Amino acid sequence: MLTWIGLFVGGTVVGTFVLTIWVFWMMLRGVYWGISSLAGVPRQGRGSRATLRCPQYRCGALNLTEARYCRRCGATLKPVARAQWARI
Ligand SMILES: [Zn+2]
Repeated sequence: MLTWIGLFVGGTVVGTFVLTIWVFWMMLRGVYWGISSLAGVPRQGRGSRATLRCPQYRCGALNLTEARYCRRCGATLKPVARAQWARI
């Protein structure tokens, strides 16, 4: 009987401990990303957000992320939504 109580209490303590560490870790991560975004530190180098490289072989032209087609070869940069197909 005492063993079961001990197991229960032990499990609860370990569970709470793990949960606390997890919450703490998530908070640390959130603070880290918050500071990073506030400081303007890009995750993948400078300018990678503003441009999109053409996926076509031998083209590789840089286009705006808003662009749907490559300005050099005209290849589709983003998968066209179904609603847009229906309109055509
Ligand atoms: Zn292209």
